[in-house]
Amino acid sequence: MTRTRSRTGWLAALVLALALVAAACGQDAREVDTGAGDAAGGGPPASAPAHPAGSTMAEIQAAGTMTVGTKFDQPGFGLKRATTGEVEGFDVEIARLIAEAIGPEVEIEFTEAPSAVREQLLENGDVDTVIATYTINDARKQRVGFAGPYYVAGQDIMVPAGNPLGIQGVDDLNGKRVCSVSGSTSVENVRKMAPQAQVTEFDVYSKCADAMGDGRIDAVTTDNTILLGLVEASKGAYELVGEPFTTEPYGIGVPKDDVEFRNFINDILEDLYASGAWAAAYERTLGEFVDEIPEPPEVDRY
Ligand code: GLU
Repeated sequence: MTRTRSRTGWLAALVLALALVAAACGQDAREVDTGAGDAAGGGPPASAPAHPAGSTMAEIQAAGTMTVGTKFDQPGFGLKRATTGEVEGFDVEIARLIAEAIGPEVEIEFTEAPSAVREQLLENGDVDTVIATYTINDARKQRVGFAGPYYVAGQDIMVPAGNPLGIQGVDDLNGKRVCSVSGSTSVENVRKMAPQAQVTEFDVYSKCADAMGDGRIDAVTTDNTILLGLVEASKGAYELVGEPFTTEPYGIGVPKDDVEFRNFINDILEDLYASGAWAAAYERTLGEFVDEIPEPPEVDRY
């Protein structure tokens, strides 16, 4: 970068600017944001949003709270601990990193976002973002916007340990009692790919896991990483079989037309990839079930 002003020139301008702003506002000069390079115009104090006026980021910062829809029953991604009421997981960590980038003092209010209500939560303005193992696809893009992807999963199959019915892949689900969740890509995929499967739908995946524990169903199908969390929580009762048979890029849901907010989050994701913060969040959460930390996916600015 070429500097067009001498160092003393800058200092003189700065001192003048600080004096002007301090005189005009009666503020402590240390609060003046001198980073803008045009402080003589009376830039905002450092404590005010550094976001464009009227943007969602500025609104969130002014409110001091970002509302996030996430899962509450998916170990590894979004799990609400009954004992403490705290939510934890990779999606929760991503939410925290985004909130922090909006403003260091911004807190998060988590709302449960079962698969079938994610679009509605955003359309109603009930939440600022949905970060909930939420696959980006064209049908959903008709209703919401997606930053990301920030993770890529694949649909897989979970069965009782020992695989009593010998299920090896999605074709073998034909004729079997299979469980998945309403409003998910998983249930759509299994209905298409194994049309003879007897599909039971619940609102959340933990109910599928419980139903398999009771012998009411033969297999659960959804994203591999969600299933890995359930396998881990089953303490040896369940296992994964076969190979992932779909690609599920996870996005951060935002209101459909809020392109500014979507791109802001895309910028943050790229920063988190470059700084290693994404990998550290992965390690702290999914690292419990997965040995290798993958490369983060490339952000898609559609
Ligand atoms: N990623 C898939 C989806 O968005 C399945 C997981 C889920 O239901 O959250 O539908």
